[in-house]
Amino acid sequence: MKKDIHPKYYENATATCACGKIFEIGSTKEHLNVEICSNCHPFYTGKEKIVDTLGRVEKFRKKLEKKSKIQVSKREKKEAKLKKKAEKKAKK
Ligand SMILES: [Zn+2]
Repeated sequence: MKKDIHPKYYENATATCACGKIFEIGSTKEHLNVEICSNCHPFYTGKEKIVDTLGRVEKFRKKLEKKSKIQVSKREKKEAKLKKKAEKKAKK
């Protein structure tokens, strides 16, 4: 091996998962933080779990909520229009 170009290798580095599990691995970094591991990944657990690291699920839900609100307001406008029409007819 060439000298001074290789990073230090930690034989007993620790990787901490978001689920709380701590692994001992070999790495060039002493401590690693991961958000998913074989202990909690749905592929290994068999449980359905949405892996949401970027808040995409939350974003989608907000979008859906917004959409349904818009549809409600549209319906209200339509109903108001119909009411006005009916009032005009009643005057005649
Ligand atoms: Zn995990």
